[in-house]
Formats: sequence, structure tokens, C-alpha cells
Amino acid sequence: MSEIDAALADLVASRVLDVPDFPKPGIVFKDLMPLFADGDVFRQVIDGIVAYHGRESFDVVAGIEARGFVLAAAIAYATGVGVVPVRKAGKLPRATHAVSYDLEYGQATLEVHTDAFAGGQRVLVVDDVLATGGTAAATLDLVERAGGTVAGLSVLMELGFLPGRERLAGRPVHALLTVQP
Ligand code: AMP
Repeated sequence: MSEIDAALADLVASRVLDVPDFPKPGIVFKDLMPLFADGDVFRQVIDGIVAYHGRESFDVVAGIEARGFVLAAAIAYATGVGVVPVRKAGKLPRATHAVSYDLEYGQATLEVHTDAFAGGQRVLVVDDVLATGGTAAATLDLVERAGGTVAGLSVLMELGFLPGRERLAGRPVHALLTVQP
């Protein structure tokens, strides 16, 4: 790991709170609100994600509802590209593609507008936490169904004790921090 990568991992680790038994008994929720709330750290993290991929490697950023929206909007603004929300079922007003999948806690459906990535745009996908990988796998699937190509996937934190990375085998997974229990 480079010095810059190690510094970014330390920054993320310093701004996450473990919340036991949320939203269900047995789940340790990784609350990254302290990172979002710290302007200096938030900027360094956004810049770190952009630097990892390279500004020229993507045409648009897709954020996964809801914490991914925060990251996606900041990356989009910092790089001058657009932002596309990948939303929970029933929120988008026009025709959508939908994918259902299993979560670490429960089941979910994500949607994106069918015309979201017209013209084969290169899409950088972002979210806060990679757990079992179901959410990210569904999103990458949606990106491709909606006409985009996946330029990369970045998360702030990967739960290294869950099989997210294996589920995304062959996909370009970038995590600023990987944690064990
Ligand atoms: P998964 O599909 O299991 O990889 O779950 C990832 C999605 O659920 C992300 O959008 C996360 O925000 C959320 N998530 C899952 N597990 C956790 C956790 N332990 N702490 C915080 N967020 C989580």
C-alpha cells in the first residue's frame, strides 16, 4: 500500500463510528456521518477517489441511495461530470430498469432510468460501504442494462469478512479502507 493510500485508509478509519445491533441485532453498522461532516477529511477522500481512477477515466458518476448520493455529487462537482442516482424501488418517475437482490440485512430492489447512460457513457459507481456485494453487483448490472459501461467502483469501506469482493469477481473494486470484525 502506498503512503497516500495508507493515509486515506487512516482518515476513513478515524471518521467512522461502529453502531452495534443496528438496524438489526448482530449487525455492526458502519456510520460514516462523521466523515461526511468533516469538510477537510471529506475533501481529501473525494480527491483520493478521483486520483485513484483518474479524471479522464469516467464520463458520469452513479451514486447508490442514499449515502452514495453524497459521494457521487461531490465527485461530479469536483470533476465537472454529471451525477446519476441509483434509487430504491418506486422513487424514479420514468421508465426504469430494476434489479432485486439480498442484503446483509434483508432484501432490496434498486432502479435506474432506462435512458440514464445513453451513448455508452463510462460510469464510476460509488457507495459508502461494501458488505455482501449485492447492492454493488445489482448497480453494476443496472449500469450496463441502461447502456453504460462500468469505469470503476469505489467504496469508502469494505467489510473484509464478508464475500463482497468475491461476489464482484472480475469487477474493478476500489475500497479506501478494508476492515475485519
Ligand atoms: P451489501 O449489498 O451487503 O454489500 O450492502 C451494501 C449496502 O448496504 C450499502 O449501500 C451500505 O450503505 C449498506 N450496508 C450494508 N451493511 C452495512 C453496514 N454494516 N454498515 C453500514 N452500511 C451497510
